[in-house]
Amino acid sequence: MLFDPFNRRLNYLRISLTDRCNLRCLYCMPEEGVPKLAHEDILSYEELLRLARLSVALGIEKIRLTGGEPLTRRGVIPFMAELARIPGVKDISLTTNGILLAEQARSIWEAGIRRINVSLDSLDPRRYALITRHDLFERVWQGIQTAEAIGFQPIKINVVALKGINEEEITAFGRLSCEKPYHVRFIEFMPVGPSVGCSEDRFLPADRILERLRSLGPLTSINGRRLDGPARRWAYAGARGEVGVISPVSQHFCPNCNRLRLTSDGKLRTCIFSDRETDLRRPLREGAPDDHLEMIIREAIAHKPREHPLNTSSAPQRCQRQMSKIGG
Ligand code: SAM
Ligand code: SF4
Repeated sequence: MLFDPFNRRLNYLRISLTDRCNLRCLYCMPEEGVPKLAHEDILSYEELLRLARLSVALGIEKIRLTGGEPLTRRGVIPFMAELARIPGVKDISLTTNGILLAEQARSIWEAGIRRINVSLDSLDPRRYALITRHDLFERVWQGIQTAEAIGFQPIKINVVALKGINEEEITAFGRLSCEKPYHVRFIEFMPVGPSVGCSEDRFLPADRILERLRSLGPLTSINGRRLDGPARRWAYAGARGEVGVISPVSQHFCPNCNRLRLTSDGKLRTCIFSDRETDLRRPLREGAPDDHLEMIIREAIAHKPREHPLNTSSAPQRCQRQMSKIGG
C-alpha cells in the first residue's frame, strides 16, 4: 500500500490522457488554447498501462481518466477495456465534457466503464456557449441522455460555480437533481494555471452555493462511502438524484487526500496545486524495471505536501500548469 508521510493512504490515481480539448472553458483555457505537447511527449497507451498496472500493484484501487478531453484521444476505448481488465482495480471512471459522449457512450459501456462525470456548467444553451466558447449545449445534453438510457450509474454532472456567471442557475441544477437520477456536483473555482479568461473574483464559496440550494427546499445529508471522494452530499425530499459540493478552496479536504495525478506527458503530481512534479516518462523509456519505477513513485510520495496553500483569506497563488494539462 502507498502511504505518504502524513499517514494518508493513496489509493486514487487520476490519469490525464491528453492535453488537447475541443472546448475552451473560461476557467480552464485561454480562447486561443495552450501550446500543445508534441505527440511523442505524450505517454503511449502501452506506457500508461504499464504505469497503471504498477500503481494497482502498489495499492491504487480507483482510476479516473481525464484530460484535456479524454474522448478526443484516438484509441481511447480499447485502452479503457485494457484498463478495466487489470486485476485489483475496483473502480474506473471518466471525466468528460460530453461533446463526443452520444456517439461513444455505448462503446465506453462495453469497455467496462460504468461511472462517468460530465462537465456541464449551464442548462442554458446561450450561457453554456459563453462559458465554453462553443455553442454545443445540445450535444452534451444528448450525450447525457444517451448515457442514462444505456445505464451508466451514477451520472455525475460537474458544475464549476462562477459568481455572476452561472450562480443564478444553482437552483435550476438543484431542480434537475430532483427530476433526473443525476448527482450534481458544484466545484469551487480553483486558481490553477496562468492566463485563463476567469479571474479570482468569480470565486463562489461552497457556503454561498449551499445557501442557494437550500432556498429550493430542505436538504438531507447523505453519508459517504469509502470511495466517494471529497464531495459533501445532500438530497431533496423525493429526489431521484442528489447535489454535492466540492470545496477545495474554502474548506479544503487535504487531511483526507488520497490522490495522485499523472499528466499526459508522464509527470507524477502529488498535489493539484503544487508544481513539484516527478518525471516517470524518462525512466520508463530508458527501460527502468518495475522496482526502480516503484522507488521513484515512493520518493515522489514522500514529498506530498501536507496541504495546499490556498484559503479564502489570502490571495491564492496560481500554479503554473494549466488545469487542462493536470486533469482537474
Ligand atoms: N475535459 C474534461 C471535462 O471538462 O470534464 C476533463 C478535464 S477537466 C480539466 C476536469 C474537470 O476540471 C472538469 O469538471 C472541469 O470543469 C474542472 N475544472 C477545470 N478548470 C477548473 C478550475 N479552474 N476550477 C475548478 N474546476 C476546474
Ligand atoms: Fe476542456 Fe475540460 Fe478544460 Fe473545459 S474544463 S477547456 S472541457 S479540459
